Parts: sequence; C-alpha cells; structure tokens
Amino acid sequence: MTTLFAIYFFVLGTLLGSFFNVVGYRLPRNQSIVKPRSHCPNCNHVLTPLELIPILSFLIQGGRCKNCNQKISWFYTIFEFITGSLFALSFLLFGFSIQLVLVLLFISMSVIVFISDYQTMIIPDQVLIFFTIAFLVILFFKGGVSSTLFAVLNGFISFSIMFLIKKIGDFLFKRESMGGGDIKLMGVIGLVLGYQLSIVSIFLGSIIGLPVSIMILKLKRTNIVPFGPFLCIGALILLLLNVDFNGLLAIIY
Ligand SMILES: [Zn+2]
Repeated sequence: MTTLFAIYFFVLGTLLGSFFNVVGYRLPRNQSIVKPRSHCPNCNHVLTPLELIPILSFLIQGGRCKNCNQKISWFYTIFEFITGSLFALSFLLFGFSIQLVLVLLFISMSVIVFISDYQTMIIPDQVLIFFTIAFLVILFFKGGVSSTLFAVLNGFISFSIMFLIKKIGDFLFKRESMGGGDIKLMGVIGLVLGYQLSIVSIFLGSIIGLPVSIMILKLKRTNIVPFGPFLCIGALILLLLNVDFNGLLAIIY
C-alpha cells in the first residue's frame, strides 16, 4: 500500500511540477497563469491533453514539438521529475501527517522560486505571499496561536539577518550583493525552520551553490548567479532530514 501511495505522490508531484513550471515562467514576466494555454514557443501550436502529460509526453515525442518538430527544452521535464521524486520521498519520510503538508508546500515554493529566479533573477512577491499565508495556516493547525506568532517572530529575525548580510555585502563588494527577493525568501524560510536553521541553510546553500554557480557562469555566460534556488535547497535538505537546531548541534559536537 505504501508503494502505491508513494507512486500516487510521485504522479501528483509531476502534475503540480508541470503547473509550477508555468507559474515560475510566467509570473516574473507578468503574464497570466491561466491564459494563453500552453503552446509551442516556436510554432504557437496549442498543446493537446496528450501532449501535456508530465515527463511521458516529452519522452514519447522524443523531446520535440509534435507540430513543427522543434526541440523542446528538457529543463521543464527535469523539474517535473524532481517535484514528483521529492513528493514521493516526503510521503515515505513523513507519512500522512501535517508535517507532510508543510513539506509538500515548501517543495512547491522551492520549485517555483528555482525556475523563476534561475531564468529571470526575480522571485515574485505573489509566490512568497501565497506560501507565507499557507504556512501560517498550517502552523496554526499544528501548534495554535502562540507557535504561529513565534514563527512570525522567527521569520522577522531571519529577514533582518539577511538584510544585514546584504548591507555588509553591498559595502564590501561596492555593488548590489543580493536581491530583495532573497531577503524576503529568507523571511519565509525562517518562518518555517526557525531563525537558527535558516542561518544554517544559508551556509548549506552557499556550499552547494559554489560549484553549481561556476557551472552556471559557464553555461549562461553571465556574471550574476541567483542565490534563491540554493537557499531553498539548503532549507529543503534540513526540512527533509527533519533536524531541529539542538539536534544539529548535538551532531556537530
Ligand atoms: Zn512547435
């Protein structure tokens, strides 16, 4: 039965991942999420339901548009697969619990932030606001008013710490070291993880981000790399490992 549910969460993840692709692509470009319907960017052919099946359509069509044979980027298929895998993994780790809902929401936010920030260097406010509200509702159900207020305080502390880091960075590098989106994102991460673990996720994100950044710099030939995606990855690792800060200190010492 567990396997069946894991498959269910994988499929759910790929379907939502497909939607997150649309959101992550269109929101920072100020386009509507619902209109126009998904189409081939080359020939404008509107995709039929059969061409919209996550992962499978891409594989069956050999990664090409059915109409004009233009190559489709594998970028979106990868994110469908990653979302599906993370959803299934979360179910296996947390079972049917309120924590599972929280983790699934966090994965969803991370995927959208990743796609959006990687492509456009923008983390849309709408995304952060939507998930902040969702997290607050979940936290309220999990621990009532006091723990929700405590989470808000944590978010505020994380936001302030990141703001301070940015100010120091701006001063040291004599240029904008970090976008406003990263600071707001850090606030949301602090809300979910607590301020101590949000600082740990900065370190984790930086460690993972360094080698990947070098790759991105070569691939995209720019000199700016978004930090938001790595911040999300760092936080997601902590969330999936389900460590609290004291537990983490115990492991280190
Ligand atoms: Zn086409």
